[in-house]
Amino acid sequence: MRDALVELAGVRKTYLDHGSFAARMMGLTRAVHAVADVDLAIRRGETVGLVGESGCGKSTLARALVRLESVDEGDIVFDGHNITNVAERKLGWFRKRAQIVFQDPQSALNRSLKIETMLARALALRGGDRGRDRCAELLRTVGLDPGFVDRYPHELSGGQRQRVNIARALAVEPEFIVLDEPVSALDVSIQAQVLNLLQDLQEQFGLTYLFVSHDLNVVRYLCDRVAVMYLGRIVELGPVEDVYAAPAHPYTELLLSAVAEPDPALRHEAIQVRGEVPSPFAPPPGCPFHPRCPRVFGPCSEMRPHLAAFGTRDVACHLHTPPADRATNQEKASSCD
Ligand code: SF4
Repeated sequence: MRDALVELAGVRKTYLDHGSFAARMMGLTRAVHAVADVDLAIRRGETVGLVGESGCGKSTLARALVRLESVDEGDIVFDGHNITNVAERKLGWFRKRAQIVFQDPQSALNRSLKIETMLARALALRGGDRGRDRCAELLRTVGLDPGFVDRYPHELSGGQRQRVNIARALAVEPEFIVLDEPVSALDVSIQAQVLNLLQDLQEQFGLTYLFVSHDLNVVRYLCDRVAVMYLGRIVELGPVEDVYAAPAHPYTELLLSAVAEPDPALRHEAIQVRGEVPSPFAPPPGCPFHPRCPRVFGPCSEMRPHLAAFGTRDVACHLHTPPADRATNQEKASSCD
């Protein structure tokens, strides 16, 4: 993709569950495919939202993007450099250019350190000025009183703590920030303020974001494109306005039909979904969504759809694959198994 800052190609991450002692003794190990065959490119300066139900693999993918998680297969490329298997001691340059902000602002901060100490340590990674004035300036950048340099995390509110986390990420002057549910632990009244701050910072510093969230309203507000994940795979990826106006994948329809929409013109018809999310230990054959899909038909239970271009977006669904292409599609999907 032209001018992509971050590119993922065929990324897979599997966790092994060794189960009970008896299961271990019998050598019975189960595999969970947390992330499977993910291709994704994030352009410079854009915000891509990553959505899906709990356990769909979005946080694993987000952590893999900043090399906090290893992957089993595939490539992670940052600004043209393949960083998939680069040793941590050689990743110093990358740590200055890519950062992550976590969901829980409390646990992300060291409660025994003053804010100044934490910011100074982050500034030291970059080199240059890490004095008190520079720490105060960082706090001002995220809308906090510079006098907070002398405070400890427990003396701040949840929203203030998250602003400190954002300031710490900014200290290394990154180009790319993964925002892993950054407002979901905050009061609704504070969420909007932090989202506005993130937008302002993006404009000011030309940042690129991956925004992980289960809140589709927040994603619509902040993101340029949205990637929808189901059981470790991206099933729809496209511009936010197109996907929200007319979701192409039935799972995206399901997610959007559950969103409270005050504008009747934008409201999606509630769709009936069958059953529960399948066990990730034993994903269904064919399309992983077929046991729940209200639009399931002929090939769905046997052939797994591959993510393919559909108008302005990519979709993994047989509804949008001409019958003649389904076999090819299935071959591509099988080759990734
Ligand atoms: Fe539903 Fe079939 Fe599309 Fe899967 S491939 S989402 S089961 S219609």
